[in-house]
Amino acid sequence: MTSRHAEISGAGFAGLTAAIALAQRGWSVRVHEKGESLREQGAGIVLWQNTLSVLDAFGLSDEIAERSMVPPFYETRMQNTIVSDEDPLALGIPWRTMTRPFLHSVLSKAAKAAGVEIATGSEVVGATEAGALKLADGSEVEADLIVGADGVASPTRDSLGIGYDRWHAKDGITRFLVPRRKEDLQKIEPDTEWDNVIDFWNLEPRVLRVLYTPANAEELYIALMAPADDAEGSAVPTINLEVWTSIHPQLTPVLEEAAKIEGKYFRYQTNRLETWTKGRVALIGDAAHAMAPALAQGGGCAMMNAYTLAEAVSAAEVGDLPDALTEWERIERPYTDRCQDRSQNFADTRGMAQGGQFVGESNETALYDPTDPHRHDHAIA
Ligand SMILES: Cc1cc2nc3c(=O)[nH]c(=O)nc-3n(C[C@H](O)[C@H](O)[C@H](O)COP(=O)(O)OP(=O)(O)OC[C@H]3O[C@@H](n4cnc5c(N)ncnc54)[C@H](O)[C@@H]3O)c2cc1C
Repeated sequence: MTSRHAEISGAGFAGLTAAIALAQRGWSVRVHEKGESLREQGAGIVLWQNTLSVLDAFGLSDEIAERSMVPPFYETRMQNTIVSDEDPLALGIPWRTMTRPFLHSVLSKAAKAAGVEIATGSEVVGATEAGALKLADGSEVEADLIVGADGVASPTRDSLGIGYDRWHAKDGITRFLVPRRKEDLQKIEPDTEWDNVIDFWNLEPRVLRVLYTPANAEELYIALMAPADDAEGSAVPTINLEVWTSIHPQLTPVLEEAAKIEGKYFRYQTNRLETWTKGRVALIGDAAHAMAPALAQGGGCAMMNAYTLAEAVSAAEVGDLPDALTEWERIERPYTDRCQDRSQNFADTRGMAQGGQFVGESNETALYDPTDPHRHDHAIA
């Protein structure tokens, strides 16, 4: 392949994944990150086969395994009674939990090792269909391929006039990384397996859910879900400890840790774009398909689409890139559209409270393997 150049807006999971996949296929790549330093804010993340296979293709599986976990079970409780105890691995679904800063550091290190240039403090204000990124300092940089991976408020998307529909759900979530405090939790509930992911649902007398996710031996990711119209449940920057411990007393040690940290309440939203591509520009990640986090698939879809994008454009002639992008969207997008619909539906109905989530089509993207050249033959349609 003759030398090709890509300019990417945003060094989140989507942008870094695209950068590595393109660089490994011989592209010269520059990523613009508006933040002054390369870091991921946020707490924990659950990854499934669609993402783990990408990390494996990048040669990063061993490094990821060093500071992540495969919890024994995914347990769902309603009013503190177990309603299901599922082992995704036994159901054929690879999964892993970790912190976001860790995943981000592994990806940014791998991008640099692959020869990607990362420009921090470089803010993108827009793009052109012909293949240019416009920067906040007034300059413009040209490329064969422009990738808009600049998150839910994407200036790349908005500058191209790409319209979208947006749905908000009634609930939202505040996320924290806290010390595990496993021994203290065991003193309160000795029979509980505190290495499990435990989805503590509570719908009566009020909707307050805690998603408890061990991320490694020392760190715990807890996500506190409350309706947007519950002022006490959604209170930030400091959570209302009295309210949360009154409903989930067995989690008091880790809720106390969360109360020491400033939190940000994030209301669930789904964005459905009229198109993911325009000319030489492709949108990936939350810029293209922000989704409710019910299925824990926003980052997974971001990374699988970044990977398949790199494959599709590398297989095309430079002159044919706009057509290759259109074809990539036609083939790959339906999986993400369906995942968005299912996630939004789970968010609207709070259906995950019933447990038994690892069945049927809910698993479609979790099971997807973007690195498998025959994936379209056997993916669940
Ligand atoms: C509560 C919650 C839980 C979730 N849990 C999971 C989970 O368990 N598993 C999962 O797979 N997904 C999960 N997700 C979804 C996942 O977090 C996102 O889909 C994913 O982080 C999106 O990555 P991104 O790279 O597209 O966007 P972002 O992470 O938003 O990254 C965008 C990057 O672009 C930069 N940027 C923005 N504007 C500019 C600009 N103008 N110029 C240059 N740079 C710019 C930003 O600084 C940032 O670095 C969850 C989401 C939520 C809200």
